[in-house]
Amino acid sequence: MCGRGAKLPRATDDSSGRRPRAVVTGGAGFLGSHLCEALIAQGYAVVCVDDFCTGSPDNVAHLADCPDFELLRADVSEDLTVVGHVDLVFHLASPASPPAYARLPLHTLDAGSLGTRNALALARNRTARFVLASTSEVYGDPLHHPQTESYWGNVNPVGPRSVYDEAKRFAEALTTAEGKARGTDVAIARIFNTYGPRMRQDDGRAVPNFIHQALGGAPLTVAGDGSQTRSLTYVDDTVAGLLALAHSRVHGPVNIGNDTELSIRELAGMVIELTGSKSSVDFVQRPIDDPAVRRPDITRAAEQLGWKPQTDIKEGLLRTIDWFRGLQSSAGIPSGAA
Ligand code: NAD
Ligand code: UDP
Repeated sequence: MCGRGAKLPRATDDSSGRRPRAVVTGGAGFLGSHLCEALIAQGYAVVCVDDFCTGSPDNVAHLADCPDFELLRADVSEDLTVVGHVDLVFHLASPASPPAYARLPLHTLDAGSLGTRNALALARNRTARFVLASTSEVYGDPLHHPQTESYWGNVNPVGPRSVYDEAKRFAEALTTAEGKARGTDVAIARIFNTYGPRMRQDDGRAVPNFIHQALGGAPLTVAGDGSQTRSLTYVDDTVAGLLALAHSRVHGPVNIGNDTELSIRELAGMVIELTGSKSSVDFVQRPIDDPAVRRPDITRAAEQLGWKPQTDIKEGLLRTIDWFRGLQSSAGIPSGAA
């Protein structure tokens, strides 16, 4: 399968007849693999650069036969060498789930700092547009709700989440300075919790954990009393937001997220209902510094990019559940759900 069809507007070759070409760091991860697929559907040649620390070549195996798709194994904090012309650089390389960045603290700080520096240098040297995959975590445990881009955040610089939060905050500062000091064409997307097919079963984030547990008939591990909130965005919507930003002249930062907020307890209930599982809920210890609330104000994305999420949470969860069911049945694991 080469891309997912031509629903998206297609890029055209430039005056020299060259096919536009995008580099996606972290392209073999959950979000990056969907972005690579969408770029190919738009007519881009794509170079996916990944060190597979949390991603896998399996996520882009279906793109391997596309003539314009290349997969390079590299740690972008050490080296980001891409031969040939480049029009767009998306910097997604970074561990992203709380257990992953807790396991890889220094790698995460490097990806946000050295990795961002190398990705910016690539964009600068090729006169390409650069898009940083930043995060709602720059708002920390927010004291303003919902979060507008003008809010500076409430982050513990030495807490367990700091390796991720501060790396992304530094990446935003570096990106902004690069744009101002050197005129590189940069943009910052602040992505809110995104879910969908290709999240790892052991990724550790709430959606894959809950679906995996519900399908296996295990109790769903709800942290604390589950009253903390998140606003979940289906992956296709996040990818559409990233592409809208890339194709605009907007520098941002721009919140990319769904503004429908729900508690984690509600999410667990919804997963149990949609899987038809008989699983119960176990209330487990809440992680330190776990944000109590999170919801994006998406006025800027709507006004400046004409972007809004389209996928209802139940629809997105059903698609994700279907994908996890497929994984389990191909591994010969019987489903514990009714
Ligand atoms: P993921 O872990 O599935 O993907 C990250 C990818 O980056 C993996 O393939 C990993 O192997 C790769 N990677 C990590 N460090 C690298 C390095 N030094 N060099 C090369 N490759 C490296 O996570 P994801 O959810 O797909 O997140 C992708 C990006 O989007 C991350 O930058 C994350 O911070 C950002 N983001 C994601 C969400 C979300 O909810 N999914 C929310 C906000 C921001
Ligand atoms: N969470 C949970 N059970 C899990 C995994 C996560 O209750 O098995 C909670 C977590 O404590 C947080 C919310 O779900 O309050 C979202 O966590 P996730 O790791 O998905 O994203 P993030 O914390 O990065 O927003």
